[in-house]
Amino acid sequence: MGLHFGTLFWPGTLAKSNRHPSLKGPTKTRAVIIGGGMSGVTCGYTLAKSGIDAILIEQRLIASGSTSANTGLLQFSNDTMLSEFAEQIGEQTAVRFYRACKHSAEKLCDIADGLRSETDFKRRSSLYYASKPEDVSVLMKEYDMLHRNGFDAEWWDETRIAEHFPFRRAAAIVTHGDGEVNPYLFVHALADEAVRNGLRIYENTALLSVESRSGGYRVMTGDGVIDAEHIVYAVGYTPELAGGRWVQATINRSYAIVTDPVQSLSAWHERFLLWETARPYLYMRTTTDDRIVVGGLDENVRQPVLSERELRNHSMRLLSELHKLFPELNAHIRYEWCASFGESADGLPWLGEDPDRPGQYYCLGYGGNGTIYSLLGAEIIRDRLLGFDNPIASIVRPDRSAKPTPHQ
Ligand SMILES: Cc1cc2nc3c(=O)[nH]c(=O)nc-3n(C[C@H](O)[C@H](O)[C@H](O)COP(=O)(O)OP(=O)(O)OC[C@H]3O[C@@H](n4cnc5c(N)ncnc54)[C@H](O)[C@@H]3O)c2cc1C
Repeated sequence: MGLHFGTLFWPGTLAKSNRHPSLKGPTKTRAVIIGGGMSGVTCGYTLAKSGIDAILIEQRLIASGSTSANTGLLQFSNDTMLSEFAEQIGEQTAVRFYRACKHSAEKLCDIADGLRSETDFKRRSSLYYASKPEDVSVLMKEYDMLHRNGFDAEWWDETRIAEHFPFRRAAAIVTHGDGEVNPYLFVHALADEAVRNGLRIYENTALLSVESRSGGYRVMTGDGVIDAEHIVYAVGYTPELAGGRWVQATINRSYAIVTDPVQSLSAWHERFLLWETARPYLYMRTTTDDRIVVGGLDENVRQPVLSERELRNHSMRLLSELHKLFPELNAHIRYEWCASFGESADGLPWLGEDPDRPGQYYCLGYGGNGTIYSLLGAEIIRDRLLGFDNPIASIVRPDRSAKPTPHQ
């Protein structure tokens, strides 16, 4: 089953990628990572940087899964607001989790800044606006909690929004410290850096089966065998491949368009990342070559659409939402796609060791800011392998009891 349908923008932006061999014959390592998307590569990079011997296997090519459909917003604020998490898990724990997300966003910005190849990374602020006037009280509650807990957030009223953008909304929260990236370039650059630090990557190498053996596991691929102490499942939106009983994901589908470069973005204040309180939400960003990316219209269906016409209908709706906010922009759709998108009932990702299967880990960053979650997962797994405590491991552990968030 395909993870995306349509014409993707990012893969065409990489002139030439370093290819990796497929695995032939037996080998051994401390940790084997299954999946070469954002999550697996971030994990491989993090382990390699800490001197942990690791192998990553990818059944197709690096970043060919949902990573190539990712729209590249790096935001610490979640699909589930801090105030919603606070109702669910208590304010102290929710703040601890949000602080970890903020730290992760900053760290990703630093990593992207330091990579040798271009990733089109830019630091950005985000405008989170009230979709309708009734949402202002929810937004105010969120602002109060962010502000009270030291997050760099501003309250913008209708006048201030209208001073900076060509649209009016009743209120918004502006947060700082976010970023945008080309996820495809980023994952390729990260993989190259990980290899320089000792990670071994095998493409066109699928996990076929796992056997327990003394001191760990034996992983069988088509032409190879890997003996490893630990296995990390970074298999994206095919959670059944990770096995175990804890991951109860909902797989939906989402849509995105990328326009041709537009003539002027002067009406778009500091190229803020834009999103809203409605669920599912609409979101927008710009690119370094002056295109606009618009995403949203999530639907409760696992399989991406398979018809050009159905895709085009959704793309036109996204374009019309863009024109509602920026009526003067003369924007034309150049790329459009529909992709599977995984979520959890409580808005938290599944990261860390499976208590039923010691030595087997999940790095499944489900949710709108999957990239932030991928790094959290990578660090939790690294800390576990190094024998350190991780302050948020208990919040996202796979066997937590999942409760739906009030927003859903
Ligand atoms: C439309 C859309 C927009 C998004 N926008 C954003 C955004 O703006 N910001 C953000 O942070 N997140 C965003 N996300 C979420 C983000 O895309 C995901 O969190 C992230 O790409 C998932 O990466 P992954 O590595 O977990 O999955 P994938 O990229 O799918 O990687 C999993 C890999 O595992 C491989 N695999 C599976 N089974 C096996 C096997 N048996 N053996 C070997 N390999 C295997 C697959 O081939 C695949 O390459 C978006 C998602 C979608 C769909």
